[in-house]
Amino acid sequence: MSGDPDAIVIGAGPNGLCAAALLARAGLRVLVLEANPRRAGGALGSEAATLPGFVHDVGAAFFPFARVSPAFADLDLEGAGVRWHNAPIESCHPAPDGSVAIISRDLDESARNFGDARDGDAWRRLATWHARVEADILGFLLRPLPTLRPLLRLFPLDLLRLVRILTSSGAGLATRLFRTEAARRVLPGLALHVDLGPDDTFSAGLGYMLGLTASTGGYCVPEGGAQAITDALVRIIEGRGGELRLGARVAKIVAREGQARAVVLADGAEIAAKRAIFANTAAPTLFLDLLDQGVVPGRVLRAMRRFPSAWGAFKVDWALDGPVPWTSELARRSAVVHAGDSLDDLRRFTAEVRGGALPSNPYLVIGQQTLCDPTRAPAGKHTLWAYSRVPPRLEGGWAAAAERFADAVEARVEGLAPGFRATILGRRVVTPDDLQAMDANLIGGDLGGGSNAWHRQLIFRPIFPYFRYRMPLRGLYLCSSYAHPGAGVHGMCGYNAATLALRDLRIR
Ligand SMILES: Cc1cc2nc3c(=O)[nH]c(=O)nc-3n(C[C@H](O)[C@H](O)[C@H](O)COP(=O)(O)OP(=O)(O)OC[C@H]3O[C@@H](n4cnc5c(N)ncnc54)[C@H](O)[C@@H]3O)c2cc1C
Repeated sequence: MSGDPDAIVIGAGPNGLCAAALLARAGLRVLVLEANPRRAGGALGSEAATLPGFVHDVGAAFFPFARVSPAFADLDLEGAGVRWHNAPIESCHPAPDGSVAIISRDLDESARNFGDARDGDAWRRLATWHARVEADILGFLLRPLPTLRPLLRLFPLDLLRLVRILTSSGAGLATRLFRTEAARRVLPGLALHVDLGPDDTFSAGLGYMLGLTASTGGYCVPEGGAQAITDALVRIIEGRGGELRLGARVAKIVAREGQARAVVLADGAEIAAKRAIFANTAAPTLFLDLLDQGVVPGRVLRAMRRFPSAWGAFKVDWALDGPVPWTSELARRSAVVHAGDSLDDLRRFTAEVRGGALPSNPYLVIGQQTLCDPTRAPAGKHTLWAYSRVPPRLEGGWAAAAERFADAVEARVEGLAPGFRATILGRRVVTPDDLQAMDANLIGGDLGGGSNAWHRQLIFRPIFPYFRYRMPLRGLYLCSSYAHPGAGVHGMCGYNAATLALRDLRIR
């Protein structure tokens, strides 16, 4: 790119790329600076990490927002080459006692396999209601706050029902709706994708959204690996004249007269931005490291120094000789399998992680991408991806504990799929430190853009009153998952930030 860009985006995660794509489409000259020297995407990418011919997702792998994100629809990811696939079943929740509950996009199939007939009917009623109101709920949750219009479209009884769900704990909602343990473990189990335990205040909302979007659009996977989404976004940006520069870590943002004017790279080079700068970074990194502390209000600095550490993620990738031999036939057809036996098991897990210990029998999110997309492994072979939640820092460090904990992860899969270990051809263990080394936003392996507790959401994200992407300097926007609407690959943090910036710049 010759001459100074109009806008600089720091970081090429899905949010930074969605911001850049929208800005480029509006006619701005956009430069995206990405620290990773090998690929764009942050936690949205794929690598051949085990054996030749096996493609593994480095972070995000299943995409409930694929077909409902306004950003992806507007930027036309499918037009840019993304092909979505679904497995026959979206999520399976088996236990060693043989009980099981599933979420399928086929409501009858879910109802037949959701604990017992009564719980199946309760699920059918909930999912039928959700399908009717989903567009309004997502309109409220995904757009820049305050977004009251979608809520006003709901009937009063729908609104009351939604408020009742969102203000429940995961365990409270599950015990109110269902009577079997199999059904009760589903929604609180999904909430543990982030740092929300079954009894946490207002923890039902996230499990509800992950579970119910699985029943509509499902947990899609892109053909070829998660990197395909990133590559499509980069193509959109470059097609509009934007530029992506890899291996470019931003060390400072330069402010003059109250306006963000330039960035300084780790190698000392300064690049000016004519109109705006977008940070697809962690909020504490932006306020404490990238900005001169003189331009940040003291209250914000103090809050960022105390920014709570969210849980870490511990991930294992496997190359397998064949499919996982799950005891549950339903798990053999499911994109994602969750290991967490009961509400009490999820409570024990939560208490152990909060207490700073490695969980004794780790709750797992297990992904079977090759069931949906066989292009990711040689013919007849499979990949497997799993993560558990762990403390962000471990006494004694990860080097000593990583392989042992990966064995505990394997033991839990083996308990649900006897013979699993015999199918393993190769494995890669990814600790919280490895995740942070790959992507500086994943502090202590946190995959949620900071804590997802209720007091870190909506207008409190990342800190009141900076919930509308605009930061204390003119022309500076936070556009990562540390901003509303938070974690997950939907691109809306970036898309919303760019939308507001274009409004500030009076560009239609
Ligand atoms: C193990 C794991 C599993 C997950 N599973 C799912 C899933 O199945 N489905 C789902 O929807 N979500 C999932 N997520 C969450 C999802 O990946 C994130 O919410 C999403 O990637 C956040 O996007 P982002 O653009 O805000 O940031 P990131 O994806 O974190 O990208 C930030 C980028 O900015 C770059 N950067 C940071 N600082 C600088 C700097 N100073 N200079 C230059 N570049 C910089 C980083 O290198 C990185 O490329 C998962 C995450 C992890 C880690």
